[in-house]
Amino acid sequence: MSVIYKKICLVGDFGVGKTSLIRRYVEDKFSDKYLSTVGVKVSRKSIQLSAESDFQQLHLLIWDIEGKTKFKSIAPSYLQGASGAIIVADLSRQETIEHLQDHLNLFFEINPQGYAVITLNKSDLVTSEELITLSQSCNFDCYPQVIATYHTSAKTGASVEEIFYRLALRIIEPKSQ
Ligand code: GDP
Ligand code: MG
Repeated sequence: MSVIYKKICLVGDFGVGKTSLIRRYVEDKFSDKYLSTVGVKVSRKSIQLSAESDFQQLHLLIWDIEGKTKFKSIAPSYLQGASGAIIVADLSRQETIEHLQDHLNLFFEINPQGYAVITLNKSDLVTSEELITLSQSCNFDCYPQVIATYHTSAKTGASVEEIFYRLALRIIEPKSQ
């Protein structure tokens, strides 16, 4: 069986739920307490792919970093060598949505060949009307490598599996150009 390793990073403002999304995906757990992330933590998860795929087993190396704050920017070395990124905002804090573009630009500057999934997290905290309005403020059509936008909840688990799976499938696909 062939095995392939790919690095992906979670990127987004402080407190948007990066660590919680990884914890939900890898351990299927959630905690209301702030899970302070010190430095960098790398989690692994393997994904079985369909038999038609060239790669039978994919190991995702999921990089989590201490939240970006006003005073601390994301070190480019953290993003280096990543095939993809999950760019996260918190639906209950508008400014985190406004910062998505900066995070995307930084990721693509370092990984021009990479792919990204936009994740609007904490969907359990907003009404469906608010969800529609907030999603409309997020249009990334001008970035061809942004493959999808999801609403997730690390608390309920809604769409968490999907963001990782969708990104994983795209990064192992042969490049079209
Ligand atoms: P990070 O700084 O981006 O890693 O954020 P954390 O994962 O540490 O989450 C920050 C806070 O938001 C914690 O108190 C979490 O319990 C909470 N949180 C994370 N995801 C969700 C979610 O989907 N829904 C709700 N209601 N709270 C969440
Ligand atoms: Mg964290």
